[in-house]
Amino acid sequence: MKPVKPLSPAYDWIIVGGGLVGASIAYGLIQKQPQLRILVLDGSDTDYRASVGNFGLIWVQGKGHNFPAYANWSLQGADLWPQFAQQLSFQSQIDLGYQRQGGLEFALSQSHLDTLSEEMAAIADHTQGAFHYNVLNREATLALQPGLGEAVVGAIYSPQDGQVNPLYLLLALQKASQLCGVDYQSSCRVDTIEALGHGFKAAGFVGKKILLCAGLDNQRLGKQLAMHLPVRPVKGQILITERTDLGMLNYASPQLLQTAEGTIQVGGSSEHLGLDDRSSLDIMSSIAEEAVAVLPNLSNLKLVRSWGALRVMSPDGAPIYQQSKQYKGAFGVCCHSGVTLAAAHAGPLSNWLLNSLNEDPLNLIEAMSNERFSI
Ligand SMILES: Cc1cc2nc3c(=O)[nH]c(=O)nc-3n(C[C@H](O)[C@H](O)[C@H](O)COP(=O)(O)OP(=O)(O)OC[C@H]3O[C@@H](n4cnc5c(N)ncnc54)[C@H](O)[C@@H]3O)c2cc1C
Repeated sequence: MKPVKPLSPAYDWIIVGGGLVGASIAYGLIQKQPQLRILVLDGSDTDYRASVGNFGLIWVQGKGHNFPAYANWSLQGADLWPQFAQQLSFQSQIDLGYQRQGGLEFALSQSHLDTLSEEMAAIADHTQGAFHYNVLNREATLALQPGLGEAVVGAIYSPQDGQVNPLYLLLALQKASQLCGVDYQSSCRVDTIEALGHGFKAAGFVGKKILLCAGLDNQRLGKQLAMHLPVRPVKGQILITERTDLGMLNYASPQLLQTAEGTIQVGGSSEHLGLDDRSSLDIMSSIAEEAVAVLPNLSNLKLVRSWGALRVMSPDGAPIYQQSKQYKGAFGVCCHSGVTLAAAHAGPLSNWLLNSLNEDPLNLIEAMSNERFSI
């Protein structure tokens, strides 16, 4: 990493936070305008970092069934992924483990399957049929994924879902951005941001524009720039088994997926416990129990790792894309689906930030501003 000198001539952009959101946007901005001077100020390994504790799904099912703009945005993001992955892997020389093999969400009761079916119908409606899915009964699910337990009554299948190794994704974004000229400063927590009239000062650096991508710290930092960024932590716990034969799982799923290395990843809980990201035995056992109900053969595998991580959650679960009304040039991005939306953030969102508002012809980004929340 190149050391960066504070108070060197102003940057065009300072991005606060170098997780998946900040790194995707830094990468996108520098691809679009290689002459830009961009600085990413990132915290330290002891911070809460959803980007290094997530499940790695690129998931369209269930996104935005009650929010049409989010449904269309997620689908657009997933559709941009193949080309994005190809370019990023080439530039970074890192294999992201990206696959768009399709996804299955398993239902263990008829009422769950019915609820999922209604949500999928709403998403298909919001996207004018561009979202493709099938509601599968038990036999049809077994035809796609053999070895299922008796408890599985069916599943939703969508060919548009996929997965990636999220750690390699983050590494690749940071590496490719820096190779293209982005400055990255680690262990550089931003406590206060000063609006200078002609720009912003953070941690001793000056930028003409500033973008907040500090995950759960966005709420605090946003207030300093008159932006309401209401995010709260929602804990998820994940388990990993030892490696097993590739092909044990044919599709990605929020309950189970097989990594490129052969481990089975099991997830994920949803707990509202504030800033507590520890894993706990009771939740780990209930996650494992449900996974074994879906795929009984899993009980033959040893668990080798588990962790908890905090989601960056808005009140309705959809992203927040905000520009400050009071401070021109200040923006905030908060999102719970930073893997799924990485290609959208590097693509159309970066264009929007660069003021090409015609890059949001369907008004998707503007629809996800904080104006949808009462303050
Ligand atoms: C259990 C779990 C499973 C998930 N599964 C999926 C999934 O399958 N698919 C999907 O799309 N998404 C998933 N997510 C969500 C995804 O991980 C997040 O949307 C994404 O990581 C958010 O990235 P971020 O950069 O906004 O936040 P973070 O990863 O939290 O990064 C914030 C960064 O900002 C830095 N920072 C914080 N405060 C400051 C400060 N004051 N100054 C400077 N730097 C600061 C931190 O050090 C950190 O590097 C999951 C999340 C969890 C927790």
